[in-house]
Amino acid sequence: LSERLSGVFDRLTKQGALSEDDVKTALREVRVALLEADVSLPVARDFIKAVQAKATGQAVTKSVTPGQQVVKIVHDEMVHFLTGDEDPGALKIDNPPAPILMVGLQGGGKTTTTAKLAKRLKEKNGKRVLMASLDVNRPAAMEQLAILGAQIGVDTLPIVAGQKPVDIAKRAKQQAAMGGYDVYMLDTAGRLSIDDELMAEVEAVRDVATPRETLLVVDGLTGQDAVHTAQNFDDRIGISGVVLTRMDGDGRGGAALSMRAVTGQPIRFVGLGEKMDAIEEFHPERIAGRILGMGDIVSLVEKAQETIEAEQAERMMKRFQKGRFNMNDLRMQLEQMIKMGGMEGVMGMMPGMGKMAKQVQDAGFDDKILKRQIALIQSMTKLERANPQVLQASRKKRIARGAGLEVSELNKLLKMHRQMADMMKKMGKGGMLKQAMKAMF
Ligand code: GDP
Ligand code: MG
Repeated sequence: LSERLSGVFDRLTKQGALSEDDVKTALREVRVALLEADVSLPVARDFIKAVQAKATGQAVTKSVTPGQQVVKIVHDEMVHFLTGDEDPGALKIDNPPAPILMVGLQGGGKTTTTAKLAKRLKEKNGKRVLMASLDVNRPAAMEQLAILGAQIGVDTLPIVAGQKPVDIAKRAKQQAAMGGYDVYMLDTAGRLSIDDELMAEVEAVRDVATPRETLLVVDGLTGQDAVHTAQNFDDRIGISGVVLTRMDGDGRGGAALSMRAVTGQPIRFVGLGEKMDAIEEFHPERIAGRILGMGDIVSLVEKAQETIEAEQAERMMKRFQKGRFNMNDLRMQLEQMIKMGGMEGVMGMMPGMGKMAKQVQDAGFDDKILKRQIALIQSMTKLERANPQVLQASRKKRIARGAGLEVSELNKLLKMHRQMADMMKKMGKGGMLKQAMKAMF
């Protein structure tokens, strides 16, 4: 995407605000990227519309193209859209025993994810977890969970042959309460596709357990299908979040955006492999970067925004080079020095000035002096600050009195100002000034 965009935008202007045309052109490319990443068409359309309104008229940071700027806006908007202000990894597990219901299609990764989350709850949250398999369809399914449980040191509900899922759920609830568990997890049976039998079964289990969290586990590689699955489960069962598995594969994750749009529920975790540790809390920036294929552009724009400050410093420097260095400039420099740890700190940062810094310090030049100098400048009039050469004896007396200081101190300040102005002019010719300014801002 980034290459395509920069191609499109090389022809466009580089400054000013984003025009409607800039935004439209960029968003056309973004739309293609969204669709390629398996974001569903209506979701892509709505999302683009929202971004368009937001981006038009925004100032373009110098040194990036409008296209890059739009992509950054799209990225930020997407990150916000994916999780809002929520913390994806925080499961509601107060009031023990807290039931967590795991739902989804067969093969999506429910059983694996159940065990992964149980391990996480045990290790990260120090919770006692009980897992129960409700999968009566496949003979090996209950064994699978029991084996994983033994592997990670988490208890599983003893297997009793011939029970229906609802009965197993009741038993798990009882056992969790009696056994003093903090959390119990119900790993339901999936089907190859959504059917009424599956939904009725999960509904019945839900009504027995009244889960605090109902997590839909979906294969991140299935793209569009995942969205239908999410919609169906949310409509019938009501989910509280999504776990996207197989994100270690090369799926582009567009389903995450669509599922969020369709269900309004956040992606909570992503599965990144078959191992029991291969699960992570959902990081929206990563998915957004993956969907847009443009991690580099975002950091580029961020860097460009940082350099705005540096540009202000550069403008100031240009004035200094022309010998324009008045009392207002001096005051800003003094204030900057205090901010940066005093004279010593500033000089220490300038190339070749470390030794001078030591001398300055030995001479007793500290923050107090800087503050007194600022006070002197404050008691000058506007005219005097802009043109210090107008300062005659009477004006000097007035200024010193205003700052509660001696005229001799003002004379020292004026001398320093002259020396600095001289030095700046000289340094400006050599390029030293540029280095010094860089160190200060
Ligand atoms: P269930 O039918 O929904 O319970 O699915 P399972 O938990 O049995 O998982 C089906 C297969 O997918 C198993 O071989 C898992 O090891 C594998 N699997 C689950 N999650 C992930 C994942 O995040 N990445 C990868 N690569 N494989 C996974
Ligand atoms: Mg299973």
